This record gives sequence, C-alpha cells and structure tokens, in this order.
Amino acid sequence: MDTQMLIGGAFEAGTETEEKVLNPRTGEVILSLPEANEGQIDRAVKAARAAFGSWSRTTPAERSGYLLRIADRIEAEADDFARLESLNTGKPLHAFRNDEIPAIVDCYRFFAGAVRNMHGTVAGEYLAGHTSMIRRDPIGVVASIAPWNYPLMMMAWKLAPAIAGGNTVVMKPSEQTPLTALKMARLLADILPEGVVNIIVGQGATVGNALIHHPGVDMISLTGDVATGKKVLQAASKSVKRTHLELGGKAPVIVFDDADLERVVEGLRAFSFYNAGQDCTAACRVYAGPKVYDNLVADLTAAAASIRFAEADDAQNEIPPLISQRQRDRVASFVSRAAELNHVEITTGGAVHGGPGFFYQPTVVAGALQSDEIVRREVFGPVVSVTRFTDVDEAVAWANDSDYGLASSVWTRDVGRGMATAARLQYGCTWVNTHFMLVSEMPHGGLKQSGYGKDLSGYALEDYTVVRHVMVAH
Ligand code: NAD
Repeated sequence: MDTQMLIGGAFEAGTETEEKVLNPRTGEVILSLPEANEGQIDRAVKAARAAFGSWSRTTPAERSGYLLRIADRIEAEADDFARLESLNTGKPLHAFRNDEIPAIVDCYRFFAGAVRNMHGTVAGEYLAGHTSMIRRDPIGVVASIAPWNYPLMMMAWKLAPAIAGGNTVVMKPSEQTPLTALKMARLLADILPEGVVNIIVGQGATVGNALIHHPGVDMISLTGDVATGKKVLQAASKSVKRTHLELGGKAPVIVFDDADLERVVEGLRAFSFYNAGQDCTAACRVYAGPKVYDNLVADLTAAAASIRFAEADDAQNEIPPLISQRQRDRVASFVSRAAELNHVEITTGGAVHGGPGFFYQPTVVAGALQSDEIVRREVFGPVVSVTRFTDVDEAVAWANDSDYGLASSVWTRDVGRGMATAARLQYGCTWVNTHFMLVSEMPHGGLKQSGYGKDLSGYALEDYTVVRHVMVAH
C-alpha cells in the first residue's frame, strides 16, 4: 500500500499527528498516517509554482496526451484501485468498479479532448486601428481539497480540468480517505513532469488550513461542507485568491400524481440510497402529489427495506456503511429527532445496524413537514423524507425554500409540466423522470450555499482558466 506523499519529484512521509484510517465496514484501523508538516506543505506549493512555468506553456495537445495516459493507467489498474477504495470507504467493490471507475477514466479522457477544442469570442477591430483578441490562460497553483464520499472521483473532477487548463496542483484528499490518492501519487509521478501535481495528507484544520492560507496558492478548489466553504472564502479574501466551491445539497424530488409510480420507486431506491445517501445530489427530500402520496410511501418503504447491505458476501451488497461512527451517529440523531414528532412516521429503517461497521438502515421518514429539520438540513445518510403537497405552486415553493441549490428532479408523464416545473426550480441541475445521472459533457455545480464551482464539462475548464484581452495597435 502506498503511504507516502508526493512533493515535487520526491516521496515523503508526513511527520506530524497520526490520523487513523479506518475500514468503515468493520471499524478496524487500516493504518495510521502522519500528516504533512508546515515545511512539506510549503515545499509542495513551491514545487507546483516551479513546475507552473513550463507546464503552462505546454500545448493543449501535449497536456491532452498526459491526461490520456493517466486515464489508461487508471483503467489498467482498476481492480487495484477498486480494492483500495472499497477498503477505505466500505463501498461495495462491484459498485466502485462498475459505476465509478468508468466515470473517473472518462473524466480524464473528456478533458483531454475538451482542452483541444476550446472556443471563444472572435478576434476583431473593436477600435479602429487595433485588433483585440481573447485568451484563456491558466491561473497558477491550485490548492485542491476533496471530501471522503467519492475520493478517487473527486480527485479526477479536480485534477483533470486543472491540469488540462495548464495549472499545477497541490491536492489534499480527505484525512478519512487518502489511500487511493496516495496510489494516484505513484501513477502521476510516473507520467507527469515533476511538480505538476503534488499530494499531501492531513486534517482540514491543520494541513488544509495552512494550504488555503499559503501565499503561493492562486486558486482554492474545495468540495466539502458549507462551513468549510466559508472558511475557504475567508482565507481567499486575504490575498484575493480565486475559489471554486462545491458544497452540500438537499435535493428535492417533486412527484406529480400522474408520474409512473413504478419508475419513481425504482429510481428512488437507487438514487436516494446509492453510496448510503452520502452524496450531495441524493434524492433525499420527496414532495408527493396528494393522490400518489399513499402509494408512494408504501412502495418506497418496501423498496428501501429490500436494499441489501452489511452482507458478508460483498457481491450481495448494494450500499456501503457510513464513512465513520461520527457520521453514523449524526444520521441516527437526525432520524431520532424526526421520530419524536407526532406527525412523522418512520415506515422502515430508523436504526443503526447491529453488526460491526458503521452501517445504518435505509430509512423512510413519512409525513414530514416543510418546517421539519429532516426536510431542511443535509443528513448525508440513507434517509429519505416524504412530504405531501397540494398543488404545483406549493411543491415548487417548498422545493426552492432551501439554503441549498445543487440538484433536483421532477417526475411526471406530462412533458410540458416537467419542462415548466424544471424552469421554476433554483437548482444547478434538474432531472425529469430520473435523478443522479451525470455525464462528463454537462456541468455539475450549484446555486446558493451549494457553491458556484462547476465540475465536469467545458464550464469546468472555464473555471480553471482566466479570460484575458490582448489588444494590438496596427
Ligand atoms: P468537509 O468540508 O468536512 O471536508 C472536505 C475537505 O475539506 C476535507 O479534505 C477536509 O480535510 C477539508 N477541510 C476541512 N476543514 C478545512 C479547513 N478549515 N481548511 C481547509 N480544508 C479543510 O466535508 P466532508 O465531510 O469531507 O464531505 C461531506 C460534505 O461535502 C457534504 O456536505 C457534502 O454535501 C459535500 N459534498 C459536495 C459535493 C458537491 O459536488 N457539491 C460532492 C461531495 C461532497
């Protein structure tokens, strides 16, 4: 197992406080990793700075070649990555191997193509005797900070557009899930010129904090909690660094009376509980029409109860445990507070799984009201609330009544109603008759406190580059 950080061209162990990296399926310690010291953080930033000069002057075709080689290597080592990610996150191995690896590989390949195909405003004479043109140039050194729910995928979403755009990177994975990032460090060191990507490990409050305040960092890219996003903004304000923020979510799901109920339930079974709901787009806040409500609650309850987890044979598992005991306790406390409300019924789940590991039962909270905490706050666990609405205006108002604005969905057989409702929702993404589906060509990112950074698509390349005007007098 790779345990060393990548700083410039060298592999080094940290020297500071050791973080226990756990197997969430058993609660056992996999290993302890010492975090980076201040000198190592500083050297990682300086290595990225030193590499920036030549990397930023490579051609798009050259950078594209590097990205394609990274994609090929991940694909070739997919089984090893899958074993490691599954060990560190508890994800069912087949789910990571079949769902995430292809998306991760595709992300690098997409940006390999996209960077060769960037378009912009036409050059022209906007002032007589002068030609103006637009350039898109790299920003500099990007500090990339990732969460624990999709470690290797978040790394791809951050690294691929950043280096495709000609930036260099210092990456910090979550202290809870550093193992695939450390394996990536070896792979990247084989492929990329020294210093283009540096990988350091440690806690947010120490290593992350030092990184975002480092004067040698030009841009901070965070996927994480809203509270962490606010800290990034404060740090960025000191030297006016650019920021790219992907924060939490609380996705509303509007199910109209005319929806195909079987399809809705099949969809929610997958999209609400995938990765045990540890997903910022999880379909966790259902608003059901008055006629469909009772059947939806009954069928969703049965569907959630049928989800398999915590089986000794991992091939049978559909969802992982929560990432940590702390996260499981947090989920359990949300559900127990909801269960105390007279109008709420926990129709399935509602308890910690008895065996080892940090598993929590797939849970449906029926009868929840818009004002309830379970409807308003991000739970980040396998928990879905269902609320009855009376008409479309109420459903849209409730869906939009949220601090978050990342993802949403509308379920109806009426195309016009689907389009009209999608147009009124204040979310970075609205799916109609599906949820959760992402493609490399389309942007992922939010509004409001979900942040404003766009991952994937040409929009991410725009986020990781800067528009410049060059004017030439004739
Ligand atoms: P978190 O904010 O606690 O941690 C995310 C990363 O930030 C970690 O690497 C952590 O070490 C680092 N960090 C924490 N405090 C820091 C500080 N003061 N300075 C610098 N870095 C710091 O979030 P998490 O618990 O790892 O992840 C769960 C959260 O991420 C959820 O809220 C979820 O919705 C969000 N998320 C969002 C998206 C998205 O695309 N919008 C995707 C995945 C997760």
